[in-house]
Amino acid sequence: MRIEILIMDNDVVELTQKLVKTPSIKGNTVDVANIIFDYLEEFGLNPQIDNYKEGEANVYVSLGPSNTDQFIISGHIDTVPIGQIDDWTHEPYSGKIINGELWGRGSVDMKGGTASLACVMIELLKNESDLKQEIFLALTAEEETGLLGAKNYIDKKLIKNASNILIAEPTNLEPKTREKGIVWFDIHSNGRQAHASRPDLGVNAIEELARLIPKLHNVIPDWEDDLLGKTTLNTGTIMGGTAANVIPQYARARFDSRVTPGITNDEVISRYKKVVEEFDGEIEFDFDLIESASSILSKTTNFAELLMENTKKYVSREIEIGGAYYATDGAVFMEYLKDQPEFVIFGPGSTELLHQTDERMEVSQLELSKKIIYESLIKTACN
Ligand SMILES: [Zn+2]
Repeated sequence: MRIEILIMDNDVVELTQKLVKTPSIKGNTVDVANIIFDYLEEFGLNPQIDNYKEGEANVYVSLGPSNTDQFIISGHIDTVPIGQIDDWTHEPYSGKIINGELWGRGSVDMKGGTASLACVMIELLKNESDLKQEIFLALTAEEETGLLGAKNYIDKKLIKNASNILIAEPTNLEPKTREKGIVWFDIHSNGRQAHASRPDLGVNAIEELARLIPKLHNVIPDWEDDLLGKTTLNTGTIMGGTAANVIPQYARARFDSRVTPGITNDEVISRYKKVVEEFDGEIEFDFDLIESASSILSKTTNFAELLMENTKKYVSREIEIGGAYYATDGAVFMEYLKDQPEFVIFGPGSTELLHQTDERMEVSQLELSKKIIYESLIKTACN
């Protein structure tokens, strides 16, 4: 087996800047998809763009024999909104490099990782005849809003059997082989409205809901993952009532539960549902499941170990295999593939500035992530 010397004619930093300069929040990912499509095509690849709904597009390309298990490498092209523009030290869509950091929304989550993967595919083109399995680059829209781009890959039957999945979300170049799951749900009620001076005639929906919330916390499973800790529950929003002098008839809360590997989403959902069903209040509550993405615990960690070894060649700090608190598109792919592939999250950028103002990426990590992923793929997927 030979490892080709990287010829750096594609430029991961320049591509990341281009992507950051192009806003891509929900409903507006087509422009950024086109930039990646054009870039891949310019370097001789044969990418596909799937404008699967108005304003949203996935981009994908594959290399190597198509009759084999896939090695899926994946990233998302959408970002969360910028928040208050005045809170940013530098313009959020500038893509400017200041003191070795590339500034802007999406630089870390995760246009840097996505650009790295695109450049890895361009490098792999030179090794195409040596590839013994298909490398499938799956870039997704709508990751931040329900993993919908990833689900579209399943619907279109573009995901086949896979030996490996790599998601290039930011990990500060540390491989992560497990991630927490997500359960989003609503609980809402209908009380009885009355004048505030006559509580005997009404049932206060807000107060009943407030009484129910601690009961949900009481049923969170005790199981603790050694890296990711316990399952958590957050009451994210609460709505209800019309005026101070009216007993509210209606109240609704939305919850976000992060489920630790080792516990199934079905288990936590049934526990929360049971609390709602058995609530001993004067009114009834309804439970609506909004979103569910399973946790991941990779059965093996061979590719993660290879990434770790290759990373240690370039960085002097301690690198360990860990777990991610956030959920990725990997949840959709792994669920479809019945948890069979080996799973790893590995990408450039620190998670500390995730979804915050002043998001910025250490430029040196962009080159490194491209190099490390490329070298590790060559070792695994080439003859
Ligand atoms: Zn992300």
